[in-house]
Amino acid sequence: MPSALEAEPTRWYYYRMTVFPPTAQGSASPPEKNEAAMRLGAHVSISGSLDLAIDRAVAMGCDCLQIFYGSPRQWRSSVYPNDALERFIHKRRAAGLDPLVAHAAYLVNPGTPDRDLRRKSVASLLATLRGVERLEGLGVITHLGSRLSSPRGAALRRIATAVRQILGASERAMVLLENSAGSGGTLGATFDDLAAVLDGVHGDSRVGVCLDTAHLFASGWDLRTSAGIEEMVAAADRTVGWDRVRVLHLNDSQGALGSRRDRHANIGEGLIGSGGFRALLAHPRLRALPGIIETPGFDDAGPDAKNLARLRRLAGIGRQAGVRRAGVRRAATRKEVRDGNRPVR
Ligand SMILES: [Zn+2]
Ligand SMILES: [Zn+2]
Repeated sequence: MPSALEAEPTRWYYYRMTVFPPTAQGSASPPEKNEAAMRLGAHVSISGSLDLAIDRAVAMGCDCLQIFYGSPRQWRSSVYPNDALERFIHKRRAAGLDPLVAHAAYLVNPGTPDRDLRRKSVASLLATLRGVERLEGLGVITHLGSRLSSPRGAALRRIATAVRQILGASERAMVLLENSAGSGGTLGATFDDLAAVLDGVHGDSRVGVCLDTAHLFASGWDLRTSAGIEEMVAAADRTVGWDRVRVLHLNDSQGALGSRRDRHANIGEGLIGSGGFRALLAHPRLRALPGIIETPGFDDAGPDAKNLARLRRLAGIGRQAGVRRAGVRRAATRKEVRDGNRPVR
């Protein structure tokens, strides 16, 4: 997709540096077998300092990462000093982590009929989008929110309006619409919902989609078999267009197929199961995307190296997790978990 690459020179730079690192002569080398493997990463905490997220991601064995740009449970947006931003950028470049995405705050609900809530949602989303843009990341991942008692079409139009406002006040990074499990009347549980928002922004190239495997399963897509996965991919292609899908959230599901229950499980411990993930990771269209875990963790401390190692094993990727660099810091602490500085949905 040359147009997108031209629009995102920084991202392309990272991609080149990661996939085709320069040789000693300064020319690009062809990708080796392992480098063509799926890029896997995790949601990591920024607790303590933004750049600590990079240390945590490296310690976990990530190739890519997702962060919250500030507190996920507050409207107030975070402002960081320039040196903190530069430190993050520098460390990420050195670690070759790509892409970087930011998850929107939980409170964000661009589909709501409540004007005040919508205004706050737009402000919060914009702050995150500008933040991730400043950090040279790919974009912000947002849920569509809830329509409450208002009609679906009106809610989806409000979301499109909100997205247009945000894009108009920023320059480069993308808004990635995440599918939902559909619990409590949330929007985005169908590809038609996502497609309606894409239509509402007239197919702006800065709007993409993030598909969460746990949400897909809970909303009725049977990801346990290759046939079910193929059906899902074909439906996404017909509605949103597969090229719009830019990121995967790889979570197993505690919620049953079609239950609309949004509860993530560790890879292989949920109802999608190891067989399902093996099939997902074998699909060429899914493999080509970066995959980020938002799992509860085997120590209940959030996404961890073990979940990533499981994915790599199921994907047939040889590299061991967490051995790329020495001198790295710990993963999320119990306090961070308590403070909510990790993904729960
Ligand atoms: Zn997700
Ligand atoms: Zn979820």
